Amino acid sequence: MSTTKLKISDEEWRTRLSPDRFHILREKGTERPFTGKLLHNKEKGTYHCAGCGLELFSSDSKFGSGSGWPSFFQAVVRDNIRTREDKSFGMVRTEIMCAKCGGHLGHVFDDGPEPTGLRYCVNSLSLEFSPG
Ligand code: FE
Repeated sequence: MSTTKLKISDEEWRTRLSPDRFHILREKGTERPFTGKLLHNKEKGTYHCAGCGLELFSSDSKFGSGSGWPSFFQAVVRDNIRTREDKSFGMVRTEIMCAKCGGHLGHVFDDGPEPTGLRYCVNSLSLEFSPG
């Protein structure tokens, strides 16, 4: 899938996304931990951006981090995820965003398991799961 950037106004996003998805993806919100419907999903398949459908993670890289959010140690294609330093809430974290639509996904930390040592901590609401 192409990662040509999508330019969509907030007004248009509001018509495409549910209010809770809009809040997370477009306003960089965070769902409450242990509430996301994909947290305990163990099916084989692919996790796509809930904003634009870009492939982001495979079930093969999902692991139980105990954080309360779906966690992955690797992106399907590294370039499908953009990162940015986030200094909000008095912390320095690395925000992760969909490279195509700019939708906020969550954050990436360097305390993940082998082989990458990374932990992509992602809101369920930022993702759409396709089995298979
Ligand atoms: Fe996207």
